[in-house]
Amino acid sequence: MAASTDSARRDPREAHRKRGATPSIEGSQSNCFNKFHKASDHSILNHTLEEVKAFLINEEELHQFDDLTKVNPVTTATVLKCLQARYAAGIFYTSAGCTLVALNPFQPVPNLYSPDIMKAYHSASRPQELKPHIFTMAEEAFRNVQSHVEPVNQSLIVSGESGAGKTWTSRCLMNYFATVATSSISVKCQENVERIEKRVLDSNPVMEAFGNACTLRNHNSSRFGKYIQLQLNRSQQLEGASVQTYLLEKTRVANQAPLERNFHVFYQVMKGATEEQRLEWGLSEKEEFFWLPNADKILEEDQFEETKDAMLHLGIDSCTQDQVFRILAGLLHLGNVRFSSPTDESHPCDLKEKAKYFLKRTANLLKVSEDSLLEELRVRTIIAGRQQQVFKKPCSKIECGMRRDCVAKVIYAKLFDWLVKIINGSICSDSFKWTNFIGLLDVYGFESFLQNNLEQLCINYANEKLQQHFVAHYLKAQQEEYTAEELEWSFVTYQDNQSCLDLIEGNPTSIFSLLNEESRLNRFSDANQFKTRLQTVLASNHCLSWNVFSKVPNFVVAHYAGKVNYQIEGMMEKNKDPVPPELVQLLEKSQDTLLKELFPVGDKEHNDSKAQNKAVTVVSKFKGSLENLMCILNSTTPHYIRCIKPNMDCKPLLFRSEEILSQLEACGIIETINISAAGFPIRILFQPFVERYGLLKTDWKLNFKTAASFNGCCPAKKRKGSSGGSTEALNITVQDILTNVLAGQTVASS
Ligand code: ADP
Ligand code: MG
Repeated sequence: MAASTDSARRDPREAHRKRGATPSIEGSQSNCFNKFHKASDHSILNHTLEEVKAFLINEEELHQFDDLTKVNPVTTATVLKCLQARYAAGIFYTSAGCTLVALNPFQPVPNLYSPDIMKAYHSASRPQELKPHIFTMAEEAFRNVQSHVEPVNQSLIVSGESGAGKTWTSRCLMNYFATVATSSISVKCQENVERIEKRVLDSNPVMEAFGNACTLRNHNSSRFGKYIQLQLNRSQQLEGASVQTYLLEKTRVANQAPLERNFHVFYQVMKGATEEQRLEWGLSEKEEFFWLPNADKILEEDQFEETKDAMLHLGIDSCTQDQVFRILAGLLHLGNVRFSSPTDESHPCDLKEKAKYFLKRTANLLKVSEDSLLEELRVRTIIAGRQQQVFKKPCSKIECGMRRDCVAKVIYAKLFDWLVKIINGSICSDSFKWTNFIGLLDVYGFESFLQNNLEQLCINYANEKLQQHFVAHYLKAQQEEYTAEELEWSFVTYQDNQSCLDLIEGNPTSIFSLLNEESRLNRFSDANQFKTRLQTVLASNHCLSWNVFSKVPNFVVAHYAGKVNYQIEGMMEKNKDPVPPELVQLLEKSQDTLLKELFPVGDKEHNDSKAQNKAVTVVSKFKGSLENLMCILNSTTPHYIRCIKPNMDCKPLLFRSEEILSQLEACGIIETINISAAGFPIRILFQPFVERYGLLKTDWKLNFKTAASFNGCCPAKKRKGSSGGSTEALNITVQDILTNVLAGQTVASS
């Protein structure tokens, strides 16, 4: 074979042209070969690094790389450049090995999700050969169910930080499945399936009205996590769905950060109610409600009609809807019940000016006694001693406010759960009717603010679990596959996050176990004491440290996505999340049938203080539901979509590299790229490989017939224990062939 020409040696681009490789996508294959070649023998391409880079990175063509693992050389800089070039060219989806990176366009993209595009992906013989798209993932999942690839059930895990596009993506995926799983069915079935599809899709506006809010980072931020299972029957038709929600941010009902808003539904009611309803619910436009901040922005409130329609389709009649909205109006009035400190501390707090009016309104709307409401908000009941003696103690102004907020939070949380139950009752199919499911997970991404507390700890813990799942399924699986194929490959050390998980949830001692221990002790929790406890018990875990410059007690956890500083103050209380039994008893006595349903008399969970001490804490509940979720995910074939927010200002066409890089690191993309690229990113079945490159191996006595029976996906070696294929044929390695491909460029081009 002829050696490569001098000119090709001097100018790698020349070599590239001489080999006749087309740039970009096709070229990306030869790039990968180059990389392999480079790794195996540096002397063959005798160029400076700069020359090689100049050859490999053709900026004008960067946007044509559909897969980040094929950008060559794979570095964070080239990956970013590639994404940037694609973003500028209006291409928002890029593969990264088996993961899909989705850049938020922050503006509607014409035809990106149109029925025609859906059809194109659904009818393509090989959708993965089309441009990367969320529909590629969706279609793959849909076909896996059909072809009974194990595990048959599928999960699409959509992750990313707030505002990155998770909910948008999940909605588009639901639309896709609703469309493809209802097409090609008989007219007779069509009507039924369309009804199901409508109800499944209607769950979105309802859950978003009650569970989403405008935050600084996203005007439509989901304040809860969601896993929705689309249930398919044997004929791949949509039979129904079920929804599981996680960790609703109920504190938002009573506390909204500056410039943020309460849940959308409050604004929808405020703006969308009829004159009559407005009068009945006391929602005069002149009224200012503390719990309805930034109401002047015109955002979601126009969607009241849509929310009501969707509720109706889900089986919530207008009478029940009115009950729901009346309760919400009651909460808005409750927010205006403000207290002032009494002159004599042994007396209960006074009501501030106008608060009496709001108290009366609240009591009317929630259908509870006005006197009892005032009494329970201002006076604490203490049961003490062996005799279980009952004491009454006036609360301080701050305590009164906390009790008021507590009533609002517990009502809203119960209402949300009730809604989810109704939705499930309406969309969930009988278990005998469906055989498989495709799950869509839309959960909050990793969070790190200036101040972080229990909410962030739970969210970041969930992300650690998902990262571990990703590592287990993708990175480990890939390594194991190479081992099974007996491929020589230097193992990239990937970041295992087990010790971080041990720190948070491990047994016998972890941050969670210490928090739970504290909440069982039924005493005032001291942040400094808790810190000392952490220091003595968990100091050996290298993921735990302290911010010595902080003035308040804190601990720092080294998460896979970065270090987060958590404030201890308030964490133990949040974990207990106590609801004074007397407040629950007040709600049990409500004359409103819906509130009666939400607070059934004698509900053990809330009713006695002893049971409350043993009650399941926030972290235990969250850990339990997350473990369930992980069990489900582990029983499915996962597909990962990583949503990226190109800039914090939510502006179209603005690509901020630094912000993007930290997100790529946080969601494990950089690591995925490294592993994929360091291994074998191109996989060709043995037979097509031999047919294409076999002629380059001159001393090769190949038995095509037997080779064809080899069904391994990597071409290099015989899989251990597999039968068939002559030894000679199977001893040909990719390296052999690539060396020939590269050394014989003139042959290839002639
Ligand atoms: P997340 O759920 O990750 O917090 P969202 O899905 O709510 O984020 O997206 C935030 C906003 O970004 C959306 O309201 C929408 O305006 C915009 N957006 C997200 N994805 C897309 C997309 N694919 N095309 C157009 N706009 C999008
Ligand atoms: Mg969301």
